[in-house]
Amino acid sequence: MAIGLATPFFFIYLGVHHIALMFDSIRAGLRPSVLWGLQGLLATCTLVLLASAWWLWPRRRLPDLVPVPEIALALSIGLGYVAIAVAAGAFMAGPTQVLMGVLTIGLMLLQRRTMLIAFAVCAPIFGLFDLLTVLNVVPYAPAITANAFANGEPVWWWALWRHMVFHVGWVVIACLIFVLFGRLDAVHTELDRLSSTDALTGLANRRAFMSRLKAELRRQARTRRPMTLVLVDADHFKRVNDRHGHPVGDQVLAMLGRLLSMGVRTPVDMAARLGGEEFALLLPDTTLDEAEAVCARLQQQLAAERVIAPSGEALRLTVSMGVVEGLDQPPEHLLRQADTNLYKAKAAGRDRAIYSVLGLLPSEVPA
Ligand code: GH3
Ligand code: MG
Ligand code: MG
Repeated sequence: MAIGLATPFFFIYLGVHHIALMFDSIRAGLRPSVLWGLQGLLATCTLVLLASAWWLWPRRRLPDLVPVPEIALALSIGLGYVAIAVAAGAFMAGPTQVLMGVLTIGLMLLQRRTMLIAFAVCAPIFGLFDLLTVLNVVPYAPAITANAFANGEPVWWWALWRHMVFHVGWVVIACLIFVLFGRLDAVHTELDRLSSTDALTGLANRRAFMSRLKAELRRQARTRRPMTLVLVDADHFKRVNDRHGHPVGDQVLAMLGRLLSMGVRTPVDMAARLGGEEFALLLPDTTLDEAEAVCARLQQQLAAERVIAPSGEALRLTVSMGVVEGLDQPPEHLLRQADTNLYKAKAAGRDRAIYSVLGLLPSEVPA
């Protein structure tokens, strides 16, 4: 891709320079020896690019890097554009934009290390020419003579070429900025999703759950509406793993995750996997009675669900739940009380939920 993007422009430069050298009126504004030197360099760079393409193409699906041709092509592109920029005048916006565009595209397509090497070679050359210009060793814009200007203004062909390079340059840079910011947004969105999602079940993870719980508690402080928290823990889940293996255990957890996410009104409610075989439901604007209906429905659905193990055995799962309705409670209190209720549900024989309003005695409700 890098070669495919760079080579056509090298051909355009070679062609335009050649045409310019053919017309005496334009030739008068150029220093032909410098331009021929530039043509020679561009032709060499183009040949290296084509040779790299020829060498790399059959190897494009190799998993290993092929650093030497990659560095050769990066250097050819870099040196070619540096020479173009220096020859036409390093202080012109157009060629400088092109250099920036080339660096950015290079970083998008090639290895960072390759680009560092190419940059480490090209940047000092660019700087060195400027130093030699300041020291009057070489003229500024050595390919151009005073005849490219009339009354201080560029003549038509020089003005036309400068404007073309300038506009192509900024359009390319602008497109690159849009592409890069688009990519940045996509990466942020993906990172956001990854950092808040549990990979196995697709539910929110503990981090997302805790931040949502805190946000809902802040909202509750204003609205004074009830809120219920449900901790859900799979019963005797270790046995599933021990008898059928971890992958079947994962399948069972995924099934439980699916039922939990289908059983709540997202996005108001939230179902999350807190870790292992422990899940949670956050039910804002929900009283204990309403939560009871949610839990009963979950237990019914779970009772109807089977996971078929590779042995052919149909596994069914039960869960124990600790449910707490709270107002004006810090998150740790809510979680601790829900955990206490969950523990009681386990102790009372599992497959059931224990409910309490925070501060009141828990009232056991059989499943
Ligand atoms: P209890 O009814 O008392 O909750 O018993 P339990 O066996 O469910 O509880 P225990 O805490 O003893 O075991 C939980 C098991 O869950 C142990 C662990 O290997 C398993 N587990 C945790 N995370 C995963 C997971 O991501 N995939 C699978 N397959 N198993 C998991
Ligand atoms: Mg368990
Ligand atoms: Mg557990």
